[in-house]
Amino acid sequence: MKIEHTICPSCSIGCGVDIINMAGRAVGTHPYRRHPINEGKVCKNGREAYKLTKHRLKHPQLKTSKGFKKITWKEAIERIIEEISSRTPIYIITSGAITNEEAQRLSKFARKLKIKLALYSNFPRANYPQINIKNIEKYEKIFILGDIINENPLLGRRILKAKDKGADIIAIDTKITRTTINSTRHYKADNIIEILKGELIRDSLIIFNKKFANETESILRLSESKGIDFIPVFEECNTRGVMEHIPPLNEKMIDEINANLFWIIDPFSRITLDNFKSEFLIFQSAYESKISSKVDLVIPTTIWCEKKGSYTNTFGITQKFQKILPTPNILKDSKIFDEIIEGLSQR
Ligand code: SF4
Repeated sequence: MKIEHTICPSCSIGCGVDIINMAGRAVGTHPYRRHPINEGKVCKNGREAYKLTKHRLKHPQLKTSKGFKKITWKEAIERIIEEISSRTPIYIITSGAITNEEAQRLSKFARKLKIKLALYSNFPRANYPQINIKNIEKYEKIFILGDIINENPLLGRRILKAKDKGADIIAIDTKITRTTINSTRHYKADNIIEILKGELIRDSLIIFNKKFANETESILRLSESKGIDFIPVFEECNTRGVMEHIPPLNEKMIDEINANLFWIIDPFSRITLDNFKSEFLIFQSAYESKISSKVDLVIPTTIWCEKKGSYTNTFGITQKFQKILPTPNILKDSKIFDEIIEGLSQR
């Protein structure tokens, strides 16, 4: 049995967890006590992160009139080459659950083949600040947009610590959530910017999640004019890092794309785009797609503990992690890209 340190991939806070590795199988987690973000605490999703290694896809699959059938990697790559060479326009959409290194390679691959590439995120690219999570306890007023205490519990823990120290925790949400219940005040309203303008003091912090990502530009302007800090809580464990290499598009923008070939890279199968239009859809993930009725070709991909790499968390901190588990029969993205480039050059 080995205890191996890694980063929790289940949200963008970037907590440290230890995976219990039993002869190449992840069987549990241990809290990583010295980690500066979570200091030995993990939430349910962090505790159960090892379960992400189970029930993963191991073979490429092609849709046929009788459902999906297993195919070899050679057949899958040949099919991708055939589709890429006969279709246009082509769009690759990735989630923020790939590593920084993979994002860099993917960007290079798309540039080489002149394929359009985007990151699925509701947040725009911007000059986001780097925030030390420990300083959250020092603010006098913390404004929270979104159910952060429920969805990002280890950030929620810092917010509750700030409350214990006397901070005014102000939730702005039209709904009642765990965050609004635990706040000191709740504005059940959607005129967010007016409320902020009326309430902000110099020692304020605004924390907001993807539900309020369309307010990013206004919050940035407020931050500049009033000198206050803010934390955007990104969707996936590495949305912030991937954004450095790949431009983001929100759901509405993706729905408006009319591509002949879509290739979605979504290791944790969290993308639930319903309305996009494509003649052929390649879905690359470790799990079955939530949009499987639209998928034509499935190819497996590695998840975080099956490779080495790095993630940049929502605070702007980049953390490296090592490969812990073996990945029999899963081709690395770099190998897939090389074989596609090679195959296309021979046409
Ligand atoms: S708060 Fe997020 S990163 Fe931390 S343990 Fe929970 S799911 Fe994982």
